[in-house]
Amino acid sequence: MEPSSHDKFLLYLETTSYKFNEEGRKKLIEFAEKQMPAFLHSNGYPDFGDLYSNLELSFWNGVVTDGLPTSTDEEREYAHMVMESIKYIKGFIKFDKTANYKKLLADKIKREKQKASLKGQSAPAAHVDNSQPEEEGQPRKEGAVTQVSVTHYERNPEDRRKALERDGYECQVCHMNFVDTYGEIGKEYIEVHHLYPVCNMGENYQFDPLDPEKGLVCLCSNCHSMIHRGGHYEMIDGERKMVPMTLKELQDVYNERNKTE
Ligand SMILES: [Zn+2]
Ligand SMILES: [Zn+2]
Repeated sequence: MEPSSHDKFLLYLETTSYKFNEEGRKKLIEFAEKQMPAFLHSNGYPDFGDLYSNLELSFWNGVVTDGLPTSTDEEREYAHMVMESIKYIKGFIKFDKTANYKKLLADKIKREKQKASLKGQSAPAAHVDNSQPEEEGQPRKEGAVTQVSVTHYERNPEDRRKALERDGYECQVCHMNFVDTYGEIGKEYIEVHHLYPVCNMGENYQFDPLDPEKGLVCLCSNCHSMIHRGGHYEMIDGERKMVPMTLKELQDVYNERNKTE
């Protein structure tokens, strides 16, 4: 019998990612299946079905995540889970093309039997689970959901703050400022755009947040939408990825159309 998409995704996480323990896997799958469709509905894909209804890499590469708010722990956790979900769904899509599920299932049953027999023993042999020992100098990623979010975001709020400080909450394309336009409710609100999107970086990509080409920049919601909408696809590391417009490109478009004589 062909396993369900849910089971396949689980098998993928179990067999290819030692970063997760059981709890981490459960949390990721739950989030991806329940929250991602909702996230997509409200972010430009109102017709999106269940999580497995679109298994095209190009679709997932085009999903924009960098406008998500990250000022509270809760928001950061949500944004992190969205990005993790996308990352692992993309991994799964590639995996799914060649995976031998029959063998994977057989292996899984074997593992479980082994585990069960080890548990029966009295010795401290109970330490046989899928996790691997921590590598020297590597962030600990077991239970990835909480642990990685720490390592991943540790520098992010700081980077964000630097960009906000430099730009003074003003859109760097149209110079709109939310507090001028909306008063109190717009105070200290602006979107921070990553000129070189996070999803196009390797895991350990280092960048200067104030780099005018690859760093962060403050944009109002309109300009932020447009800088992505005007982007294009490029092959990066063998994957088709969405590359937004550069800041200069959007500034030129905007200035050209809004010239004051
Ligand atoms: Zn703007
Ligand atoms: Zn953006």
